[in-house]
Amino acid sequence: MHYRKKPEEEIPQEDTAVWLCTQEGCSGWMRDNFAFDQSPVCWQCNSPMVSSVKLLPLLVNTNDYKSRQKV
Ligand SMILES: [Zn+2]
Repeated sequence: MHYRKKPEEEIPQEDTAVWLCTQEGCSGWMRDNFAFDQSPVCWQCNSPMVSSVKLLPLLVNTNDYKSRQKV
């Protein structure tokens, strides 16, 4: 996995890789920041999850911080 973060300042949201729950009616989803090797299961209902993209506010988390330091 490789993400190329653009040094933009005014963009509060970006297309973010996420996992979506496949269970109908379940709103479970999670960010893909953890780089799963295989599909995770929903933390709400334990259903399989599918990789997708969501427009989300930029978050600086520990993973992002690490990858930023490498660049
Ligand atoms: Zn679910």
